[in-house]
Amino acid sequence: MDKKQESSFLTYTRQTLPPAQLFVGQQGTTLKATEQLLQIMFCTNNSCNTCIPCMQIREKQHHAIMWLHPEKNYTIDQLDDLFSTLSLQLQPDEHFFFILQKADFLTPACANKLLKPMEEPPTGYHFVLLAEHAEQILPTIKSRCTIHTLSSETIQQTSHPLVEVFTKKMVASNEFSKILDTTTIHERETMELLDDIISHWLREYQQQKKEHVCSLITKLQRASLQPPMPGSSVAFWRNLYLQAHNDYF
Ligand SMILES: [Zn+2]
Repeated sequence: MDKKQESSFLTYTRQTLPPAQLFVGQQGTTLKATEQLLQIMFCTNNSCNTCIPCMQIREKQHHAIMWLHPEKNYTIDQLDDLFSTLSLQLQPDEHFFFILQKADFLTPACANKLLKPMEEPPTGYHFVLLAEHAEQILPTIKSRCTIHTLSSETIQQTSHPLVEVFTKKMVASNEFSKILDTTTIHERETMELLDDIISHWLREYQQQKKEHVCSLITKLQRASLQPPMPGSSVAFWRNLYLQAHNDYF
């Protein structure tokens, strides 16, 4: 059985990222999702798309990411580089990603060689597998992955981790602190994100007039009337979390 089905991978931090993930969906969609995930891990400026790590990710040139792609099927030879990289010990805060595109083209022999490292990769190493058809992936591989089934819609809707948290996936306070620790956020952006969150809940409220949604909207709107002072965006989000997170559970 699959270990976990989850579609929101955007709330992961370096600390919570699972060792092996499988993105299932159309090639363009899973590729985009992978880039977004890598940006969360390597961009220090909110997946800005413009910094050097963001550009290196897009151009598949980042030094801590190995992209693999089969000619037809994967061959054992093709995995040589992967295994020799895995044998190198990373620095304590270093992270390295293996991206296996078209993972539905892993032969059983290749898949078997990957089982052990995927289950317990050496510290700092992560696997991301991309596939169009999950049913063509060996169950032994699938059972080691957190599976994200992605539609092109999921990708269009994906947004800043804070928006994800406040619209889709409220998290416990320790996880929320980790998200704040790993995102850089400025005052103007804070207000834009808050607008997105409020619009989301206003749409929800139009569809279903639920009381707790109304109470939540009130809190969000009240917060938007008191924008953060320069340098206090993190405190702003922390406060908003404390005031509002009960409305989500
Ligand atoms: Zn960036």
